[in-house]
Amino acid sequence: MPELPEVEITARRLDAALRGAEVESALAPGMVALKSVAVPLGALAGRRIEGVRRIGKMPVVEFADAGEGSGPLSLLVHLMSAGRLQVFEKRASLRDRASRVLIRIADGRELRLREFGTRQRAWAKLMPAADLAGDEMVATLGPEAWPAPPLDELARIVDAPRQLHPLLRDQREIAGIGRSWVDEVLWEARLGPFRKGSDLEPDEVERLHSALAVLGAALDHYEEVIGATVPDKLPMPLKVHRREGEPCPRCGVTLAAVHFAEHSTTYCPAEQTGGRVLKDRRLSRLLK
Ligand SMILES: [Zn+2]
Repeated sequence: MPELPEVEITARRLDAALRGAEVESALAPGMVALKSVAVPLGALAGRRIEGVRRIGKMPVVEFADAGEGSGPLSLLVHLMSAGRLQVFEKRASLRDRASRVLIRIADGRELRLREFGTRQRAWAKLMPAADLAGDEMVATLGPEAWPAPPLDELARIVDAPRQLHPLLRDQREIAGIGRSWVDEVLWEARLGPFRKGSDLEPDEVERLHSALAVLGAALDHYEEVIGATVPDKLPMPLKVHRREGEPCPRCGVTLAAVHFAEHSTTYCPAEQTGGRVLKDRRLSRLLK
C-alpha cells in the first residue's frame, strides 16, 4: 500500500504534469469506486486542475472554480492497498478492468485511478473544496508523520497503552505511516514493535521522533530516482521490512519477523527487543 513517501512523490509528479490542464470529461467505470453523492463527476468538465497534493496517505486533486459561483472542487482519493493514480498519454480502453475513475484531459491525456487485483477497494470522492477539511476521512487524521510533528506532540500521541506497531499505523493518531514504513521507523528508533507507547522513556520518544526522518529520506530518494512518471511499483528504499532472515544492516544480527494474517513486522532482535525473538501469538500462526 502506498504510504506517505509514495503518495507524496505521486502527488508531486501529478502536480507537475497536470497543473493548469483542462478537464474534458470524467467517468467512473468502477462505479463502486466513486463515493461522491453531493457532486457528480460531470461537474469536472471544463474545469482546470489547480494542483495535486497529499493528505496523509491520500492524494487530493484540486479543480478550479467553473464560474457562475460554482466554487472549486476537490477529489479525495483513497488508494487502499492496490490503487494507483497515474497520468497516461492516451485514453484507456473501457475494457481495462483496472480502471476505477478516468479524468480525460482536453489535450488527450488521462488521469486514471486504477486498481490491481480483483477487489474493488480504492475509492474517490468529489466534493466542494470548502468541505474537504471537514470530510470524515480528513478531519479524523492525526498530524502528518512527515515533516515530523514537534517532539512534545509526538510524546502525547504515543503516551497510550497501545503497542507501537498498531499505534503508529493508526491514521487518527499520526498520518502517513503504514505496514512498510512502520518497520523502518521502529528499526531506526531501535524500538520493539510490541512496546507499549506509554512505557517509553523520554529518550526513546526522542529516538522515535528522530526516526520519522526516514520518511523524508525516502522522499529524497524518490526525487532522485523517479522521473516524470511514477512507475507501478516504486523502488522503495526499505532496509528491514520483509527482510526476515537477512542480516541487520546496522549490527549484522539476523532479522526476525512476526506474521499476522495479512501482514508481518520485521525487526532486529539484538537492537529492538533486547535479544528476544517475538513469538507469533496470533491465529495466523495456526493457519500457516
Ligand atoms: Zn541490528
